[in-house]
Amino acid sequence: MSATPAPRALPAKTTEIAPGFTVRRALPNRERRMIGAWCFLDHAGPVTHARGHTPAVGPHPHIGLQTFTWMIDGEILHRDSLGTEQIIRPGQVNLMTAGRGIAHSEEDAGGDSTRTHLVQLWIALPDAHRHDAPAFQHCPVLPRIARDGFEITLLAGEALGQTAPPKVFTPLVGMDLSATGPASTRLPLDPTFEYAIVCLEHEVTVDGERLQPGALLDLGQGRDAITLGCDAAARLILIGGEPFDEAIVMWWNFVARTSEELARATSDWNAHRHFTEVASPLARIAAPDMKGVNIRPSHQT
Ligand code: MN
Repeated sequence: MSATPAPRALPAKTTEIAPGFTVRRALPNRERRMIGAWCFLDHAGPVTHARGHTPAVGPHPHIGLQTFTWMIDGEILHRDSLGTEQIIRPGQVNLMTAGRGIAHSEEDAGGDSTRTHLVQLWIALPDAHRHDAPAFQHCPVLPRIARDGFEITLLAGEALGQTAPPKVFTPLVGMDLSATGPASTRLPLDPTFEYAIVCLEHEVTVDGERLQPGALLDLGQGRDAITLGCDAAARLILIGGEPFDEAIVMWWNFVARTSEELARATSDWNAHRHFTEVASPLARIAAPDMKGVNIRPSHQT
């Protein structure tokens, strides 16, 4: 196996996904389009807001991916075109498998929450499953492991002798590590996986190098362990997976294999075809015009 690449910190892009609601988009990154099948990572918050004003997103569609919501603080009501209505609370995951097509909204849950902090990731579906029927899975309880001062939540996949409940279709892993004070642990990794780390709160160290929110630390492939630490309260997310061997195209809320598929999903949504509507009080979000957009396949450098 070739030498392990040095970690590289790739800046996240700041994007406003709802009025006044800015997120740090760590994936896709110009320099790194995917980590395994993980193809999108938005770190939202922590943000404080008035009661009843959780940042909300009206009905919009997805194809070819799973949306994976990791709630750190706050509450959000998820509604989708399957008829699901599910509040997600801190420590929980919502996994929505779009398959051939789903639509959903994310709304204020009507509670007392005045703080929102979450990570939303997307997982590209392999060709064998990307036309499957849509599905929704709420995961209220995830494996938690106390280790060397960290509380580790296993979000997806298998690690440290545990298996996370979210149903995924390619070998991948996700974990959240949080600490309330100084901590340091050596974490075993799978050398066949590629990995990345995003700091979510304060500052962490990765093999001794400092990392703060606002970057994707790309670890590449070929590692069998990594040392994670912090000097004070902090939080990070680690994602990894077997390199995804299919070239994907991504645009707006869609993952596909060709521009034609993206264009069809766009026109279907805007013409009220193919997708079932969401019973939401929020306004439906129209797909933007694809004309002039340069669609670059994931494996093209
Ligand atoms: Mn969505």
